[in-house]
Amino acid sequence: MKGEKYLFVVSGPSGTGKDTVVAKLLGSHPEIEKTVSATTRTMRKGEVNGKNYHFLTKEQFETALAEGNIVEHTCYCENYYGTLRSEVERHMEQQIPVILVIEVEGAGNIKRMYPGSTTIFVMPPDMKELEHRLRYRGTEAEEIIQKRLRRAETEIARSADYDEHVVNDVVDTCAEEIYSIIQKRIAEPDAE
Ligand code: ADP
Ligand code: 5GP
Repeated sequence: MKGEKYLFVVSGPSGTGKDTVVAKLLGSHPEIEKTVSATTRTMRKGEVNGKNYHFLTKEQFETALAEGNIVEHTCYCENYYGTLRSEVERHMEQQIPVILVIEVEGAGNIKRMYPGSTTIFVMPPDMKELEHRLRYRGTEAEEIIQKRLRRAETEIARSADYDEHVVNDVVDTCAEEIYSIIQKRIAEPDAE
């Protein structure tokens, strides 16, 4: 489909630094945007509804799904997360490079639906550092941290399916590596 090359999917285990790296990238390169997903999880301190996510109730999420407004979704650690169709289509139509920060199930679904998209897996330097970052962020209870760490192993096991791999050791370096991937891809001819 025309415009697929403008879609960039970023995944990686919780706490690896995806949001930090993507925020840095968007700050340095304002021509790149990020989709705002819908979720049923509770808002973290500092998050803004409509900016970080569209925070929905379970009923609102299920209605959006039934109405076909969500292009892919998953249940991650007992909450729904989904990409809005309008977000993906707008960026493809307007040829604006856009990043979808989503987990591995969703990444696979997007790649199947839009084969011209580019999937990028962000690895932590090692598992000890991942655990440290997840705890240091201080946003989740211990039980959730444990769930997310268990899920991290399954996610890393699927990283080979991704088109590109980067390691988030230093935020700025990782952000620039993703920027290079984006620049290279959008310079390629668009599929019809
Ligand atoms: P994710 O979006 O992958 O769940 P976050 O972006 O929320 O991860 O980052 C998790 C924690 O790790 C945050 O406290 C963040 O400040 C920190 N962090 C992110 N990248 C780095 C890095 N390269 N070095 C050290 N700490 C980092
Ligand atoms: P968090 O609760 O830390 O914001 O996100 C948890 C996980 O859900 C992360 O891996 C994040 O990338 C993923 N996620 C966020 N939005 C979406 C979405 O729209 N679809 C899917 N499949 N995953 C998402």
